[in-house]
Formats: sequence, C-alpha cells, structure tokens
Amino acid sequence: IETGSGDSRVTPMMEQYLEIKTANPDCLLFYRMGDFYELFFEDAEQASRALGIMLTKRGKHQGQDIPMCGVPVERADDYLQRLISKGFRVAVCEQIEDPAEAKKRGGKSVVKRDVVRLVTPGTLTEDALLDPRRANRLIALARVMAGEDTIVFGLAALDISTGTFTVSETTRAGLAAAIARLDPAEIVVPEALLSEPDLAALLKETGRPLAPVGRDISDAASAERRLSEAFGVSTIAGFGALSRAEVCAGATGVSYIVRTQRGAHPPLAAPQRAGQSDFLDIDAATRANLELTRTMSGERVGSLLDAIDRTVTAAGGRLLSERLASPLTDPDAINRRLDSVETFTADAALRRDICMALRRAPDLARAVQRLAFNRGGPRDLAGVRDALIAARAIAERLGQSERGAEIASASTALAAPDPALAAQFSEALAEELPVRASDGGFVRPGFDAALDEQRQLRDESRRVIAQLQQRYAEETGHKTLRIKHTNFLGFFVEVPAAAGEELRVAPWNATFVHRQTLQGAMRFSTVELGDLESRIAAAADRALALEMAVFTRLSDLVASAGAVLQSVAQALAVLDVASAFAQLAAEQTYMRPEVDLSLAFDIKGGRHPVVEQALVSEPFIANHCDLSPASEPEAGRIYLITGPNMGGKSTFLRQNALIAILAQAGSFVPAASARLGVVDRLFSRVGAADDLARGRSTFMVEMVETAAILNQASRRSLVILDEIGRGTSTFDGLSIAWAAIEHLHEKNSCRSLFATHFHELTQLSKRLGRLHNATLKVAEHKGDVVFLHEVVPGTADRSYGIQVAKLAGLPPAVVDRAGAILAELESRDRARPKQAIADDLPLFSIAPRPAPVAAPPDPALLALDAIDPDELTPRAAQEALYRLKALR
Ligand code: ADP
Repeated sequence: IETGSGDSRVTPMMEQYLEIKTANPDCLLFYRMGDFYELFFEDAEQASRALGIMLTKRGKHQGQDIPMCGVPVERADDYLQRLISKGFRVAVCEQIEDPAEAKKRGGKSVVKRDVVRLVTPGTLTEDALLDPRRANRLIALARVMAGEDTIVFGLAALDISTGTFTVSETTRAGLAAAIARLDPAEIVVPEALLSEPDLAALLKETGRPLAPVGRDISDAASAERRLSEAFGVSTIAGFGALSRAEVCAGATGVSYIVRTQRGAHPPLAAPQRAGQSDFLDIDAATRANLELTRTMSGERVGSLLDAIDRTVTAAGGRLLSERLASPLTDPDAINRRLDSVETFTADAALRRDICMALRRAPDLARAVQRLAFNRGGPRDLAGVRDALIAARAIAERLGQSERGAEIASASTALAAPDPALAAQFSEALAEELPVRASDGGFVRPGFDAALDEQRQLRDESRRVIAQLQQRYAEETGHKTLRIKHTNFLGFFVEVPAAAGEELRVAPWNATFVHRQTLQGAMRFSTVELGDLESRIAAAADRALALEMAVFTRLSDLVASAGAVLQSVAQALAVLDVASAFAQLAAEQTYMRPEVDLSLAFDIKGGRHPVVEQALVSEPFIANHCDLSPASEPEAGRIYLITGPNMGGKSTFLRQNALIAILAQAGSFVPAASARLGVVDRLFSRVGAADDLARGRSTFMVEMVETAAILNQASRRSLVILDEIGRGTSTFDGLSIAWAAIEHLHEKNSCRSLFATHFHELTQLSKRLGRLHNATLKVAEHKGDVVFLHEVVPGTADRSYGIQVAKLAGLPPAVVDRAGAILAELESRDRARPKQAIADDLPLFSIAPRPAPVAAPPDPALLALDAIDPDELTPRAAQEALYRLKALR
C-alpha cells in the first residue's frame, strides 16, 4: 500500500484496490491480504466502529495516512455475520491467481484480485450466517402502470437459502402490509422509487436494509427475457399467468441475486403466485402490537410464536413462523391443515414417533441448496442422507391409512426419493466429517479402492518415519532424537543442542544438514526425509483429488434430485408443524375451531395464549366472546368494554384477535370452543408508543391508525380498538371515540371489540342495535379493589383509578388527597343536571358528506332568492346588483 515518500503516485496495489472499490461503492470491501481481509479508508472506519476492532494505519495515499483494519480469514464468518446483522453489505475480494504467477510477471506486478461475492443480508446461504428458524427472504419491488392511472406494485420474495420464489401484486395502500407479511431480510428497490419521499419513508419505516438498484426493470419484454434466461427456459408461460408487475419484480430480484453471486446461479423454484386475498391481511402496526413473531422490543421470547412453537426442526420452525405471519382466508385450505392437527392429536403414539424421527432430520432444504450451489460441504451430504433416512421412516410409519389430504400428500413426497440415494451416501461418507471438502478425510475407507491405496501409501510413510527415527537414534546414539514436522521446514530431525554440535561435524554432517538452532535444540534435514516428504505430499494430493471427485459426484446427485429433495424438505416441515400444533393442543388444551364462510365469531371460554402460559401463581380466567350476527345476513356485533385499569380489557381484546389468527393459520385455539367465519383483515389500535423519530405524538399515531381502520374495514374484518381518544382532552377524546363507534356500527359493520374508559359511551347501546356493553368484573374488599378478570354483560360503574394507583405504590398522602379531590368533583358533577347526550345527538349519518347543519344561510343568497328577474326594470336590476355586491 506504500505510495512512496509522500508524493501523489499511487502504488499498483492501491490502484487495484481503488479500482475494485469504485466498482462496488455500496459495499464494505474485504480485500484479501494473506491470512487477513483488510479494509481501508472509510470502510475501515465504519467496520472498526461496527465490530469494535482496532483501527490502524497503513501507508499513505495522497500524502494522508490510510486508515486500515483487518479481520482474520479464519474467523471471517463471525465478522461477516455481525456486519450483515447491522445492515452492511460486504464485497469479498479474493486473490484469483497464485502469488507465484504475479512474481513471474516480475517488477511491481500485484496478485490479481477480484470480488467473488457480495454478501448481503438477503442473499446468505451459510449456516453460520443464517438464523435456522427464520426464512431469509429477499424481496424485490417493481412499480408498473396498469391502465390509465392505476399503479400496481409487484413483490417478488426469494430465499436462496431454500430456493423458494413467490410473486404477488398489491396496491400502494397494501404495500406496507404486504412487506410486513413477508418479513424480508433485505429489500431490493429501484432508485426511481426511492427518490419519491413518501415511498422512501414507507420503506425506511420497515426498518429493513434497502438495496437500491440503478435500472428499473419495468418493461415486460426485458423482464421476461431476464426471467427466462435465469431459468434456462424459452418462455415463462410455463410459470402460469403472472402479471406484468409480478414479472418485473421477479426479474429485479433475480438480477440482484445474479449480481451478488457473481455468476454462480443458486437454484430457484419457478415463481409461485400468491394472491393478496389468499391471506388474512394484517397491517404492520397490528403485527407489531399483537407481538406475533417478535415482541415490541424485537425479541422472540414473549411473542405468540415463542409461546406456541413446539416444532423440533429448523425447517418446521420456519414454516410455523411463516404460517403465523400469513394466516389463510380459504376455509377449505384452513380445514385441511386442521385435519392434520386433529390426526396427530387423536393419536399420541403416532405423534411421538413422528416427532422422534423428525428430531433426526437435519435442515434438508438449506443443505440441498448449498450443495446445488457449490457452497456445500461433507456435512451437508450427511444432512441429506440423515433427512432421507428420517423421511423414509416417517413415510413408513404414516403408512397407507387414510389421514387427510395434507398428510397424505406429505407422505407421498417423503416416499418419492430413490432409496438408493441415501444408501450411496451412507456407503461413501465416513463417521467424522470435516466442514470443508478440501479438508479431506470424509470418504469412508473401503468405498474407493484407488483412494484407499493412496491413503495406505500415506500411512505407510508415517510408519517409515517412525522406523527412520528409531534408526537415526540408534546410529547416532541419541535416544532423544525426534522426527518432527512444521509447514515451514517440512520433516526434520530435532536433537538437544549438545547432541546437535556432534551432528554438525564429520561423519554425521554427511547425513544431517543443519537447518535451525533453537534455544537448547537443533534441527537437521536429511535426504531420506526429503524423499519421504515428497512421497507423502504426492499421496495426500492424489487422495484429496480422489475425495473431491467423490464429493462432486455426490453433490451432483443431490443437485439433480433437487426438486424431489425440496419437496421432501417441505413435507417434513409440514408434518413438523402439524404434530407441533397437536402437541401444543394436547399440552395446553386447545380445541379445534370451526372455520367457515359465515360472519360468526363465537368463542366460548377463550384464553390469551401468551398471558396464560406466563401466569404461574393464579389461573387464567377464560372468557366468552360472541360477535356473531343475531342472524345472517345481518352484520356482526360490537362489544363495548368498560372496566377498571388492570381489569383485563387489553388481554381480552388481544386474545380474541390471536385466536382468529391461530385458527386461520391452521392451529387449534385456546378456547373451549370456537366458531369463526373467516376474517379477511385484522385491524388493531392498541397501546401505541410515541413515534418521536417521525415527529408524531402518541395521539397522532393513534389517529392515523384509527383513520386507516375506519377507511378500510369491511364486514368481514375484525377490529380491535383499545382506548381511543386517550391522548387528548376528555371532550375531544370522547367525541372522537363516539363518532368512531358510530362509524364502525353503521358503515364498516365489522365485528369489533372496543375498550374504553369513557363510560358515557355505554349509552350508545340504546341506539345502536348491534352494540353490546360488556365489562370486567371487580370486587371490592375493604376499600381495595380485587380484579376478577371476568367479562360480563353490562357497564362499569367506576374506574377504580385511585385504587389502582394505590396498588402501584403511589405515596399514601397522594392517594388520600386524590380521593378527597375525586369526592369533591363527583359531588359537583351530580349537582349539575347531566344531559343524556346519547338521546340528544342525532345518530351518525352515513351520507358521504352531510351539509353542515349549523351553517348560517348566506345573506347574499337570501337576497338573490328574493329577486324575480321577470319583474325587474333595468334600473331596478342595476340597483339589485349593487345591493348584492354590498352583501359580500
Ligand atoms: P386493562 O387493559 O384492563 O388495563 P390488562 O388486560 O392489561 O388490563 O390486564 C392486566 C393484568 O391482569 C394482566 O397483565 C394479567 O396479568 C391480568 N389478567 C388479565 N386478564 C386476565 C384473565 N382473564 N385471567 C387472569 N389474569 C388476567
């Protein structure tokens, strides 16, 4: 890196570095130097900060010190993972020729280097870099005009660690929810979209790393060409009908992968279309608030996923999290899943056996993908073998009996691979396996005669060395003479220093050539050792070449069976999820929900799946919730829930939303019984945090979310509203909550749960036929409040705010004082005759924009009305005009 004595000449190496860096401006450049990857300039500063490693200097560039840091190649995976998890992308630049070649060119020639791979969060395949229980999806966006002024967005979701590829289409309004559902590790987005402030803001809010791509692939012809090239087909017609937006997004994603993998083609399944209406629509805020797969603070522990996960394989864990993120809307599909769970709940022995077999099945999908993609190792081959053995055992255990469609098709997939495949792996692979094929030693002795021969030669040489050591020791009379090996010297003889002095003179110096003197020891080489050395090296080389041939042959077998193996992997995951749901149901007494196309929502004895498991000292109180219409086609009901703080309102609201999600994901539910007409969209507005980063107050966030609900919820939706209007003055808040309920009842007509501390709202049930009041029961005991957590019809008479404050440990003086103030306020309130607003206010009107009732009539209009043009003389007309003008 030296650039001479402070002048501005650039060394050849720096020239090479800068050229490569310029070609990869958006990545940290890992520049290979011997046993290290080194980073320079700003890359070094960023990486040293992100990794907490030392920043040093190396040489000068244009008279300035060059900041530098480095990571050892051996531990690069570790550092890569940390950088990737912080959203960086890394270009790995290797030496692509033998340094000897560069030397041959002479002069100042540097070793040729090039970027062999871009490591980005969404394009990982290595186990060390991946979360085993989470899909690692890259999504790519495309925006196209569909018709005159309709804009649609295409979304492609690709996971190269498993080869899955889906495409879908959405609108601007549905974009955020669609992204939230896919939970991407990285979002590839055309720069043109990022230059629009509102889209850029939406994408930034997802919190996922964005990968801007220069060229926008929005013309169908070039997008189709790219896709067909990537799949080596002449037309993409075979993939089924895909929209232009979907094709463009798919092409954008595939191009990005090709770019990051530098020409290595990870095998991908043909793009599968996922219709937007196939899934229960849950917006990003609701996902976050309900803590489906992560808690609000981003942890897995404490989420719904964590509470219900009983899967035993990584692939099962991934599928479960997928299903929870994307519950279905088709009752038939849901019931097929529920049938599988029922099979496994009904037969505990079967469940146990399947579970035991699954535990021995490694992550087949990812192993297959790595092998097919030339990034695998011997342990991946063993993974394929073990998964195939487990698959066969499970297929046999499931047998031919009638088990429902999902299990039947899984069972067929498991039985599909040729048993000879696993048998070949078993024959070929040794017991102990190295990580990399190039480490050698993974082929079982006896598998390959030529290999055994080379190994024998190698082992024999070891014996010869032992004999040689004995002979040298006897001949020289030095019993402590040893033959040792280092990479630098190769084999050598080592003796204590005093003995060494003897060997350096005749006659011994004819045999022993002095090489090194250490503290107290001397080292010598001999001609015989040199010969042996080269024989051993040659045998080892030949052995390794033979092993690599075996590895390649087996990897090719895996690659050519790729599709069959991926469907085995999928089947194993499906069975894992079904038996895990059954296990959960048995353990926590969950029941099968009845799911259909009605508008029913009748939960008997429902419980909160997470709170229930967290409670230790007291039992969870089960509660009913019936939002079903009195008779269809009437719309569903609204529960208006009042009750003291800490009574259990939020818990009740959330548990019903979670039960709907679990049911539609295909799980049994924490309830004594549940009948549920599928929900198309789930909305919630529950306890928001300040979003100060975006400059929005709690109240603003609340109103934005409430607006989204009132504008979008349909009859088939489920809406959960907790304490709307809390963030503003009482009258403001009450009025907003009031109007929102009327709108939900009259216009959205959706099944809703509405918790509030505005007791005035309970009056509304007199006027709104489908609104039902419910409250959480409390008991009072010597002035203290006892929460019974039981939901009963009716309204709360008091808030018990002061009692709760007392429980929370407010100083007794403050509690007493608050009690006195409350008594005073209440007596004044009673003194004023209370107006029953519910009776006085006209009901919410569903006309689009009612004329403002109170607006005074315009005097000019009144005057105009009074004029009859047929009666007017020209003069009177002029006067009238002046009069009217004056009224403005
Ligand atoms: P609110 O929304 O009315 O203030 P929460 O729903 O937050 O009350 O409940 C407060 C606490 O009461 C919860 O953290 C939980 O420990 C307990 N709780 C709520 N519902 C139940 C229930 N059905 N059975 C047992 N404990 C409950």
